[in-house]
Amino acid sequence: MEETFSLRVKKELSRLEPEQSCCVESQLLGLLRAAAVLEAGKEGLRLLATTESAAVARCLYRLLKACSNLKVLVSGRRRRMHRHTLYMVELSAQEGIKAFLEHLGFLNLGDTPVQSVVPQQECCRKAYLRGFFLGAGSISNPKRAYHLELVTGNRIHASHLIRLLRSFRLRARRVERKGRQVVYLKEGDEIASFLTLVGAVRTRLDFENIRVLKGMRNQVNRLVNCETANMTKAVDAAVRQVESIRYLVERVGFDALPPPLREIARLRLEFPEATLRELGAYFTPTLGKSGVNHRLRRLEELAERLRD
Ligand SMILES: [Zn+2]
Repeated sequence: MEETFSLRVKKELSRLEPEQSCCVESQLLGLLRAAAVLEAGKEGLRLLATTESAAVARCLYRLLKACSNLKVLVSGRRRRMHRHTLYMVELSAQEGIKAFLEHLGFLNLGDTPVQSVVPQQECCRKAYLRGFFLGAGSISNPKRAYHLELVTGNRIHASHLIRLLRSFRLRARRVERKGRQVVYLKEGDEIASFLTLVGAVRTRLDFENIRVLKGMRNQVNRLVNCETANMTKAVDAAVRQVESIRYLVERVGFDALPPPLREIARLRLEFPEATLRELGAYFTPTLGKSGVNHRLRRLEELAERLRD
């Protein structure tokens, strides 16, 4: 199954270590509010979070372990119908769970002023948004549409999200869908800012480059202005390579390409934003930067000869 753009963002985000120790709890709080439910059983409170991403489950486990001494259980259940696994992260009923959730700010929602239940510091506000996105966010593949959303069943959480996003000058809007609150961003620029904000730096570049390839050259120029000149060159080269490969594929098809070039052509099309080193990493054994460059140049030469 092809990895969705959402999963790519989540994979990147779940690997990040929160910048500062204060942010660890904020990220955890956001993630729990997005993905966890509290159940009151005979033995006491039990917290259960579910996610379709193994990376998110691991991240949640790590955060819970970093913030508490509680016992954390992780399990996975294969869902045939949906062709993926659902991961569950659980704090079973145990001593200290209530105090921990209160300390975190997860429990007392409703009887405390709104300001006191979302993080105030800038770093922590970002971490909270990152956590929430991991738990209940999704982003459309920019090749199709610009859409990023955070979904919650809780109106207060939705209001928090809008306030937090506005505090970073992102004009989030809200709509109700099937009884759930959907907080969303629609502008490409704002989605890119969100990705940077929460630390998805690599996926942000993917996102920007897809916009370039969609013909929105002017958008990337703005980004490139604050990057290095090398970056511009790399983007230009990648755009050229993608054009050459598309031309070759259209004219002669993938199968007509020499086998060593076929794989690199496929990878370049799939990852127009990747650096040469990143592309090389998809090979076993890893192909060096110059090896990748050599093959891409051969593809460009082939295309050039064909054009003539
Ligand atoms: Zn912080």
